[in-house]
Amino acid sequence: MKNFEVTIGLEIHTELNTQSKMFCSCKNDPFNSEPNTNVCPTCLGLPGSLPVPNKQAILDTIKIGKALGSTIAIATKWDRKHYFYPDLPKNFQISQFDQPICKGGYLPLADGKVALTRIHLEEDTGKLTHFQSALALSEKKNYSLIDLNRAGVPLVELVTEPVIHSAIKAREFCEEYQLVLRTLSVSSADMEKGEMRCEVNISLRENHRKQETNSKQIPNFNDQDFKLGTKVEIKNLNSFRAVERAIQYEIKRQTEMLEKGEKIIQETRGWNDSKQKTYAQRVKETSADYRYFPEPDIPPIETSELQKESGKLPEMPWEKRKKFMRWGLAEKDASILAKDLGKADYFERSAKSAKDKKGLANLFINDASEMNIKAEDLASIANEISSGKINRKIAQEIIRKKENGADLKKLFSQYQKIGDTNKLEKIVKKVIAENLEVVSKIKAGKKEAIAFLIGCVMAETRGQAEAEIVAELISRSINNT
Ligand SMILES: [Zn+2]
Repeated sequence: MKNFEVTIGLEIHTELNTQSKMFCSCKNDPFNSEPNTNVCPTCLGLPGSLPVPNKQAILDTIKIGKALGSTIAIATKWDRKHYFYPDLPKNFQISQFDQPICKGGYLPLADGKVALTRIHLEEDTGKLTHFQSALALSEKKNYSLIDLNRAGVPLVELVTEPVIHSAIKAREFCEEYQLVLRTLSVSSADMEKGEMRCEVNISLRENHRKQETNSKQIPNFNDQDFKLGTKVEIKNLNSFRAVERAIQYEIKRQTEMLEKGEKIIQETRGWNDSKQKTYAQRVKETSADYRYFPEPDIPPIETSELQKESGKLPEMPWEKRKKFMRWGLAEKDASILAKDLGKADYFERSAKSAKDKKGLANLFINDASEMNIKAEDLASIANEISSGKINRKIAQEIIRKKENGADLKKLFSQYQKIGDTNKLEKIVKKVIAENLEVVSKIKAGKKEAIAFLIGCVMAETRGQAEAEIVAELISRSINNT
């Protein structure tokens, strides 16, 4: 069997969350509005209307480029990309061809950086919904509906170099990029809502110079030995899982073809999620097919002032993870917390007053990830654990009671009255062991017999334990035996 090297490049489109659309003042809210209500002559492509670029969208794109170490163009321009689709009212899309806002850069992943080609800004198309059924077909009632609320929404396209070599790494890239966009507050990048859409370019070639094509190195494409195999593009990937699965499927399909000596066709394929298969859609256009030419209605934009205005970057996910690891967290825990902005923020607020941040992270991830209690309260509970006053089980108990509105100080004093909580558990175990008959009565359904066991424990602790807590410890113990 031949050994093939897989080469993957990604193109990711993301809708920005600006107030208005890219080239007009229509509301940018395609997901929540009634169809065709956020439209005007400009985004409907009516004759005589003029596009005006959205400054916030340009600032957001500069921010993304800065976060990813791209070179921000001193001047940037717009171009018309022509193609005819029913969801594109102008019959061209205003995009950026040869002077994108950002060039180069990289996204740092756990095992190395992934080089970027460019990041540019363009406008989204409208949305078509096709209605088709066997019944409709026989009655010739197939129809499609169009919603142009999405036409003209600012869309950022990121293109990576073809330097990814596995499905998992491609997925990891998409996930991390989503986190970057969320961290910068430029998009919710929700794939289910179509706010973030991934396309995969994948090719296979015989692996004869493997040692020189690791992910950290951009191949020299002029060198014939580095010539990649025929590229296939996969679209319609609506989840991270789909990205991973579609690549795995394509690797298998192309490997089988190449082994049989068949030729791979350069084409665009779609992903059928229910069949878990890619399927041929159309032969891939080249840039010549789009007849790009400079947009005559928008002058080039000089970016130096905008670069200043785009402001300081927030802490990026990779910085946050490193910080958490400096605080003593394991890499896995640092990643779990950093990938959810809400949780990361809660954890950081809580960590301000926590003596043992690693212990706090454990407690948070395992016992309080719902964030139903205040961050400061979780820190107080973690501090009780780290000072040895309560154990983990009691902490869980306290969190549950606090969630139900109990007073934290009272809870602490109740639990601390009996001193070492491990001691209380030992007493409970001892009382249970000495009264197995009573235990079997309780197990048989005579619930009220628990009062006797509570009495025994209270006697042993000289009345210092809280009856309610003792009752809970006893029932838990019984249920576990
Ligand atoms: Zn409009």
